[in-house]
Amino acid sequence: MAQLSKQKALKKIGVLNLQGAVSEHLNALTNIDNVQAIAVKDAVQLADLDGLVIPGGESTAISRLINQNNLATAIKQMAHQGKGILGTCAGLVLCGCSTSQNEVEQLKLIDICVERNGFGRQINSFETSLDIATIGKHIPAIFIRAPYIAKAGDQVKQLAFVNGHCVMAQQDNILVCSFHSELSDDNRIINYFVDLC
Ligand code: GLN
Repeated sequence: MAQLSKQKALKKIGVLNLQGAVSEHLNALTNIDNVQAIAVKDAVQLADLDGLVIPGGESTAISRLINQNNLATAIKQMAHQGKGILGTCAGLVLCGCSTSQNEVEQLKLIDICVERNGFGRQINSFETSLDIATIGKHIPAIFIRAPYIAKAGDQVKQLAFVNGHCVMAQQDNILVCSFHSELSDDNRIINYFVDLC
């Protein structure tokens, strides 16, 4: 019995499988013992999850596909139910409330205003390492056409900064990163997310 109670409950975590870095997140999640990772693209699958990753890619394309597949309501419902949602790069853009140009239809899950492509174009992609108070030190972070968080509401915890720009934030069960944590072998951010789910 003591053994059993020490085991962590199994969590079913979906990766939104519309466009972008889907397999990279599935690989990262598959390395965690108490996670069952699945690629999801319909509302029925979403209802059955403990958490959802919205991956990096192209936020305009993912937004269009969310609408085509009628998924916005199901994703918002997950957020309201307190289920964990991780938005990475384009996923961060989608989780936000506004962008400087208002060019993407956002889900408004976290009270942030996003500067899309704030760190420049593909050619300006870079890798750095971040100290994140609640998670750890020297965490590798890969930025590809990355956005930053230009403004955040009072309820939002701003967790990491690059050149004075916020690149990671959390509001309760919603976690967003400007960078691709799934492209490194370091599993501290994905573990932190799974604990939120
Ligand atoms: N710049 C892209 C967008 O706004 C995001 C890039 C990424 O996810 N790597 O959609």
